[in-house]
Order: sequence, then C-alpha cells, then structure tokens
Amino acid sequence: MKAAIFYGPNQKLRIEEVSEPVPSDNEVVVKVVACGLCHTDLHYIDHGVPTFKKPPLILGHEPAGIVYKVGRGVRNLKEGDRVLIPAVFSCGSCRACRTGRENICDTMVMLGNNIDGGYAENVVVPAKDLAIVPEDIPLSEIAVVADAVSTPFHAVVNRAKVKAGDVISVFGCGGVGINIVQIASIVGAKVIAVDIVDSKLEKAKKLGASITLNANNYDNVAKEIRKLTDGGVDIAFEAIGNPKTLQNAFDTLRRGGTLCVVGYCSQKLEWSFTKVMYYEMQIIGSLGCRPVDYPKIINLVKENKLNIKELISAKFPLDKINEAFDFLRSGEGLRTIIMMSG
Ligand SMILES: [Zn+2]
Ligand SMILES: [Zn+2]
Repeated sequence: MKAAIFYGPNQKLRIEEVSEPVPSDNEVVVKVVACGLCHTDLHYIDHGVPTFKKPPLILGHEPAGIVYKVGRGVRNLKEGDRVLIPAVFSCGSCRACRTGRENICDTMVMLGNNIDGGYAENVVVPAKDLAIVPEDIPLSEIAVVADAVSTPFHAVVNRAKVKAGDVISVFGCGGVGINIVQIASIVGAKVIAVDIVDSKLEKAKKLGASITLNANNYDNVAKEIRKLTDGGVDIAFEAIGNPKTLQNAFDTLRRGGTLCVVGYCSQKLEWSFTKVMYYEMQIIGSLGCRPVDYPKIINLVKENKLNIKELISAKFPLDKINEAFDFLRSGEGLRTIIMMSG
C-alpha cells in the first residue's frame, strides 16, 4: 500500500510502498478515506518535537474510513462499517479509564505518534473505541470531527460545563478555538471570540460568536472584554498555548470565573495566585475527548447542528501531502484534509 513516511524533522514526507497491516485479535484494518492534517504534525516535522515511535513512522491522527479487515476477537465492528477513528486509544484498565476519564489514560496510545497513523491507504487500530458513522455523513467531514471538534466538545461540555446564558471568551480561533465558539454557541452561551486574524474572526462570527475582537486593535483586550461584559466573563478558553494569551484569557474573568486551558503551552509562566484564592477563581485543563462522546458528536453533525463544511479549507491527495503541509504552514484556512481517493 501507499503511505507518506516521516523520516525525521526538517525533511519532507516521502510517499513509499509499504506492506499492508494485518490486524491482531482485537484490531481492525481500516481503509482510509480521509485524514485531517494537524498542527501537531508540524510540531514533529518542523519543530523537532519527538514522536514516541522513532521514525520511520506514518503520521496522521485524524482519519476516517471503512473497515476492511477484522481481527478474530472483534465484536463491535464488521467489514464495510464506516468509522470515525479516535486520535488516541485508551488502555481500558487504568484508574482513569475505569472512572470514565479515558482521555487521560495512563498508557494512552496516539495514532501517528506511538503507532503508524492515517496518511496511508490502510491503518491498523484497536477496535474498541471506533465509532460507526451513518451513511449520510461524508467521511471527509468525519476526519475533521476526529480531533478538531472532539477536543472542543470535551472542553465545553465536560470540563467547563458551559450552560445556556453563560458569557464566555475564547482566545484563538484556529481549528480548535473556532469549534469552542461553535459548540458553546450551540449550548446557548454568549461568545466573545478573540484572534489577531480578521478572516478567522469573520468565521467565528459565522459560527456563532456574538462579539469578535482583533487583539491587535486594543492595548488591553482583557480590559475591553471586562468593560463589554459588566465585570468579566463566566468562563474563558485559551486555545493557543501562549503565556501572554493565557494571562489575557484569565484577565477577562469575573470573580469566581473559570479558565479552561485547551492550548498546549511548553513555556513556563509567572502567575499570581492572589486572585485565584481571593476571588475563588478556577483553572482547569482539557485534553482530547472520551470515546463515549464520539457518537454524540456524530449525532450533532447528522442533525446539522454542527457546521463542518465551513471548517474544511482545502483537500489534497496523498501524493501532494507536502504541499498540503505548506498550505497549513501558511496559516490560511482552518482544516486541511488528505483525501485518499482524490
Ligand atoms: Zn490533531
Ligand atoms: Zn487507561
């Protein structure tokens, strides 16, 4: 089969012929139809963030496809099922898994990082966490759901527990942030979206934001938001992973408010905890999504509550994957996907 192989940082991926994967007892082989491109891949390719499995490795953790071969022990899937493949697989037996928090499993396995991923004609994965996709939803849309919608779903619904009438701020309107905007709007919150790219803010408006602010137009965007909201928002989301925007997001909160950290920040930051104690502020993290939530998200797509088409900026065939990454690097668009048949 054909696959795009990652040989190490600062090299182009190489399209090569590799042997077809064979499923063990509890695995299935899925014929990939579409696979989303993600900034996480650029961390490996451009910034030298190490992958758990040493290269050569097939990247790609946002695939969707059709079950093609089924391991002997698999009961929940059959050949021909259309499936969403989660980015991360849980062990099922650690304390986190047994208490319904599989997304922070002790020994989680990430596709295209610990094991070969979806930039290939076929991918072999554990069967237990796959979700079946109805016929009427295109698999290209599901490839977008696999990470860029599921992570925001968990952050908004399970972690920050946004409710109708809440006022929230969202810092960063890229692939993840824009869907925090979208899902929080569906839930019934009033959303204030912040970014420094006007086109992303326009999209945020289209997907439900009541107010959009370009942070470059203000000396202190947090102060502006506190002014607009009569003292601050209930919940602030940070979907960038930058010390300055983390501080800004926190500074938009009212007393007793919650900061939900969704962006990955590797830098250390100075933080005054005075307000945290004195105003009973909360700071919570959010990572990925639980398998039990995927059918709920698929249902939101089916019911046309979630606008997925608006998120897909470009499609490339596997042969053009390096061009696709160049497009991602350009910062244009929201989600780029690889279509295996296209
Ligand atoms: Zn991703
Ligand atoms: Zn586990």
